[in-house]
Amino acid sequence: MSRRTGEGTSRGHAGAKSDASEASQPNDAEPASKLPGGLYLVATPIGNLGDITLRALDVLRRADLVACEDTRLTAKLLARYGIRARLTPYHDHNAERARAPLLARLARGQAVALVSDAGTPLISDPGFKLLRACLDAGFAVTAAPGPSAAIVALVLSGLATDRFFFAGFLPARAGARRKEIAGLAQVPATLLFFESAKRLPETLADLAELLGNREAAVARELTKLFEEVRRAPLSELAGQYREEGPPKGEVVVVVGPPQKTEAVGGADLDALIERALEGSSVRDAATRVAGVTGLPRRKVYARALALARKV
Ligand code: SAM
Repeated sequence: MSRRTGEGTSRGHAGAKSDASEASQPNDAEPASKLPGGLYLVATPIGNLGDITLRALDVLRRADLVACEDTRLTAKLLARYGIRARLTPYHDHNAERARAPLLARLARGQAVALVSDAGTPLISDPGFKLLRACLDAGFAVTAAPGPSAAIVALVLSGLATDRFFFAGFLPARAGARRKEIAGLAQVPATLLFFESAKRLPETLADLAELLGNREAAVARELTKLFEEVRRAPLSELAGQYREEGPPKGEVVVVVGPPQKTEAVGGADLDALIERALEGSSVRDAATRVAGVTGLPRRKVYARALALARKV
């Protein structure tokens, strides 16, 4: 178990055992030995209940307390594996109140496991402030890693995996969303977005407009019965969902990196800018062309301004 000091294990807070034979111990065997005290960030399935590790089950079985977003949902998961654990809610609406009692338990040397409804805690899910408080207090922290929808979507997308940027959820309001997307146009990496299915059509339209027609993927219902990954350029995906309407289920949007177009310059660049200027402000046109070409926005803006003044 790592500590903030980087000392590895100390003060009897040994790391959680990774011995698979122990992890797979049946529930009706000898009572499980006590888990070393500390906070355990435990990943749970994002759909298929089989996607939980032996170590996650072991931690959940032996923890003094399991803090979870929705106790009913986590109880169902645990019941599937014959685990009876003490559960307590820890979610966005009670975290401020619920944190102190959890920290008090940790201070007494107890083992507290944190899970979210699905996937990895802290990834667009509660837990960050609890982890920070544990680090500040010098409590032991570790993770029982497992699925996260972002990584599953990335590896299935068929897009570059060597560099990626996880952007979480985009703002729901159109103006803020567009501003955020424009701000990501220059990131030289594959982009990952969590999105609600309801907003998918409009988000894809904004992505296509502001990032250019990059290769992309919509990964839906991952690891579930109706898992689907659509791979196509952004404008094509935007068109499909505009016609079909929002899909059912949960989605991750993956967008390929900007194309390297150092070759774009001179007349080519001017042509792109002139087309973008039709019906758009200089600012919007520059953002769009910078997104498509991967050229610095400031440089494109200066050229767009010059061309707009010529007209
Ligand atoms: N912490 C979680 C994780 O690591 O996967 C993510 C939690 S976040 C509140 C929920 C979002 O994750 C959904 O809106 C969707 O974008 C994505 N997501 C979760 N499960 C998914 C699945 N099975 N298929 C596709 N996307 C999923």
